[in-house]
Amino acid sequence: MTVLVHNTRANRMERFELGLREAMPYADASLLVGEFRGTSQSPLLWTRSDVMAAWVTTRRLWGEPIYLPYAFRRIWEGGHSYQSQHYAGTAFDCAQNLSSQRREALRALAEGSGLWTYVEPAPLAPAWVHMDLRTLPPVCPGGGYPLLRMGSIGVYVCILQDALNTAEGAGIEIDGIFGIETNEALNLFQAVNGLTADGMAGCATWQLLTALTRGVGYGG
Ligand SMILES: [Zn+2]
Repeated sequence: MTVLVHNTRANRMERFELGLREAMPYADASLLVGEFRGTSQSPLLWTRSDVMAAWVTTRRLWGEPIYLPYAFRRIWEGGHSYQSQHYAGTAFDCAQNLSSQRREALRALAEGSGLWTYVEPAPLAPAWVHMDLRTLPPVCPGGGYPLLRMGSIGVYVCILQDALNTAEGAGIEIDGIFGIETNEALNLFQAVNGLTADGMAGCATWQLLTALTRGVGYGG
């Protein structure tokens, strides 16, 4: 597997070649690549160092391993809302094996820890605990991904590149770095679709791009 990590402390993208049974970078051996990949079929994964650190600390506070069958997903694999944090590699769906009472205890711990920007309320996810460390503010009022432009870096750039490859066959190397190639592909996508071709992934661009690519399968 190729694992891209946005090292948020150094603000740079790092690349690792790892097997499914090896530990995720910055996860302190408490999370395997295969666990993070879950049911995704992707040979390429991405996340952030601070997300891994939040998982490690949550697990330490909990005091025992946390069952995690589901985390990362490519946008073209679908299965989540249009601007899901699972496509960003910043979200975890865990603790499906616990009683609802124990699950509620973990949910409360995750909320109280202050480590996560969002912990889904029980009525929205009764059978598991969803926690994520999303970047705020979202560019659309209702939530979702942040504004991206030339020079942006990180997991949301990975989604943008992935979606542009899927929507228009842009052929960009997914590296999490918004450079000239990504800028050109984004401008083209905007022009072709009647959006303002300003090379910025704003609300309208994200809405259309994610709607066109979520769950369609690679290259669809
Ligand atoms: Zn989730």
